[in-house]
Amino acid sequence: MPEIKLVDVAMIYPFQKVSGIFNRKQQELILQQQKKMPYTSNEGVIALQHFNATISDGEFVAVLGPSGSGKSTLLRVIAGLERPVAGDLYFDDRDYKFVPAAERDCAMVFQNFSLYPNQTVYKNISFPLEVKHVPREEIQPEVRKIAELLNLDTKLDRMPQDLSGGEKQRVAIARALIKKPAVLLLDEPFSNLDPLMRARLRTQLKELHQVYKTTFIYVTHDQYDALSLADRIIILKDGILQMDDTTANVYNYPVNRFCAEFVGSPAMNFFEDIPVSKTGTITILGHNYQLSKAQMKKIRKDDTVDVGIRGYDIAISNNGYPAKVEYTEVIESDLVIHVIADEKKLTVVEKAADGDSLKYFRDQDIHLNIDTDRLHVFDQDGSRL
Ligand code: ADP
Ligand code: MG
Repeated sequence: MPEIKLVDVAMIYPFQKVSGIFNRKQQELILQQQKKMPYTSNEGVIALQHFNATISDGEFVAVLGPSGSGKSTLLRVIAGLERPVAGDLYFDDRDYKFVPAAERDCAMVFQNFSLYPNQTVYKNISFPLEVKHVPREEIQPEVRKIAELLNLDTKLDRMPQDLSGGEKQRVAIARALIKKPAVLLLDEPFSNLDPLMRARLRTQLKELHQVYKTTFIYVTHDQYDALSLADRIIILKDGILQMDDTTANVYNYPVNRFCAEFVGSPAMNFFEDIPVSKTGTITILGHNYQLSKAQMKKIRKDDTVDVGIRGYDIAISNNGYPAKVEYTEVIESDLVIHVIADEKKLTVVEKAADGDSLKYFRDQDIHLNIDTDRLHVFDQDGSRL
């Protein structure tokens, strides 16, 4: 199975032609939308630029970014459905830029299930082996094996329309994996499913990855998916790679404000335009933090910094910085306390225990303590110091 290497890859989609079939108002609207895209060239919309990454054999990588950030484009380039306008693509040092999609040994799973509607679940799963003319008696055990792993063994005679969304997506995953592709590309596969089903499928996907040991590249706009599934996360914004690191590093050391705000729930608290003293001290909620020499070197004289801290790194205690409770909510096993300090809204997170939602009440006076080792300091360009 290959190591996939993308070197300085760029992908540009031509602007939509607006003449003829649209009336003038519609034309203007489309042109406006196209001009609004963050990066355009004379040729069109730049969906991916200067993209560099190496994905090792058997890795589980998540590609995370908001809608329109180029995630699907990246998968399409790897799968061979799109040829990059610049840069190179290698599978194990072999130049793959001109290798057609059919020869790439990639399988893809999409958001919208895309099953063959007139075929049973069994036929849907076995199809990729049948087109390869694998003998029937070899196909059957393979279908049984993967159907069992995905809890589909009792559904093999059903038609797709008689399946729930979660079941349909499991069939799509089974069909993609049965030919043992070198790479499985998953494009927001769980976004049409309810939260409970998503959680269950996440677990199954992890198991499948361990059994099949195929490279999984999982595209999502859902940071929770990325954090819970992948060993490594690539964050994209406007077609540009922002961060490519282990899941822990992405969470603990976001390289810029975008990554800091996009990853983690509830979103990181931010204090903006915080002055830095001559000796390099900043003060957040009454707590002093000393910038290191290396951090000081990166900022210009008189520049302020933006400082982030996650709700998990703020504690409510008897003494500390005064604040007031607004309201609380229990989210999974977390108690999220919305508080106001200096007219600023912040979120504090504690582990929720039974009856905890009554622990705090509106307008309650509390005190905050922060773990200053867990502050995230950014310069005015948004880069981590
Ligand atoms: P994502 O999957 O992260 O939502 P995409 O890769 O689908 O993002 O799209 C990236 C950018 O390229 C978007 O601005 C999108 O509008 C544009 N784009 C995607 N596909 C096409 C296409 N076939 N023609 C023109 N523009 C496209
Ligand atoms: Mg997409």
